[in-house]
Amino acid sequence: MNDEYWQAIVLCDASYDGKFYYGVMTTGIYCRPSCKSRVPTRANVKVFRNAEQAIEESFRPCKRCKPDGGRLPSEEWVAQIASEIEKRYAEPVTLTSLAEQFHGSPYHLQRTFKRIVGVSPTDYLIRTRIARAKEMLSETDMPVMDVAFAVGIANLSHFSTRFLAQVGMTPTHYRKKLKGAIADDNGQSTEEES
Ligand SMILES: [Zn+2]
Repeated sequence: MNDEYWQAIVLCDASYDGKFYYGVMTTGIYCRPSCKSRVPTRANVKVFRNAEQAIEESFRPCKRCKPDGGRLPSEEWVAQIASEIEKRYAEPVTLTSLAEQFHGSPYHLQRTFKRIVGVSPTDYLIRTRIARAKEMLSETDMPVMDVAFAVGIANLSHFSTRFLAQVGMTPTHYRKKLKGAIADDNGQSTEEES
């Protein structure tokens, strides 16, 4: 930690709030620079650039200065990012653009998202695109090429490869199979009714 930050902690300088957070290793608590709690021993202080970083290292927010107040818990943050992906799946969404929009580093976003959702933001985007593609293939007669484009994958062979990897069959095969299944279902229900 540099002298500037240490001075801010000692003087409880509120102008540094949001610029950094500090944890006290002996208590496992993290604070805003302006916190009025007792000045810790310098050697025990650890500086964080954001609250998430402190939380990731298992520090708990101070009850007095509430350094997590106004900041979203990771679950909420990730849920917002996931719904943004679901809304903008057809656009060229990147990890960097999401990180910028949601005020976090790409690295932190990647890690936190994966920890909570189980897949990376990029994989989540692909899953969302393929899920929408499946809907379009079953509910519309749009050519496969148009479906690919509509879900944000302009390259048809790229789309087919992704689709195959996730669904286990090509888009065309998927559509044929589905139409076949619907026809079968209709046949059966007619039989049952009669
Ligand atoms: Zn505090």
